[in-house]
Amino acid sequence: MTSSACPCCSGLPFETCCGPILAGAPAATAEALMRSRYTAFVRHDLDHVERTHAPEIREDFNRAEAERVAEECDWQRLDVLRATEEGDEGTVEFLIHFRRDGQDMRHHERASFRRIDGQWLYSAGEVNPKGEPRRVVKVGRNEPCPCGSGKKFKACCGR
Ligand SMILES: [Zn+2]
Ligand SMILES: [Zn+2]
Repeated sequence: MTSSACPCCSGLPFETCCGPILAGAPAATAEALMRSRYTAFVRHDLDHVERTHAPEIREDFNRAEAERVAEECDWQRLDVLRATEEGDEGTVEFLIHFRRDGQDMRHHERASFRRIDGQWLYSAGEVNPKGEPRRVVKVGRNEPCPCGSGKKFKACCGR
């Protein structure tokens, strides 16, 4: 039954994966919502994309542009790289493979999601994120290294 395989590449049938979410059911997780938004692009269902934006970014949404992107791109694959959730906040880092103007392209994003009244919403996205967000600690070169090695910083991670 490959014809009913969900476009989001979950391996599940559309009817039990993104289908119900596109039809308005709340997504169980931030990742499920993210997948359904990708599927919405594949199926040119921009209503779903629009209604799953958090209020603060809703007015920035360019519906005409999104529709054009949905149509011009040949969506190939979604890879969810990592998904984390804590209470009503979620982060999903993903890679979308698509073809546009005959070229293979990739979209890499770390997206933030917020759950409001039981509904996960897309609230922000960082395109081409550079690694893990890191806490920057200023350490003197002669101070003990914060990694706990017991060495001076300049002789350890500060080299
Ligand atoms: Zn799906
Ligand atoms: Zn160190």
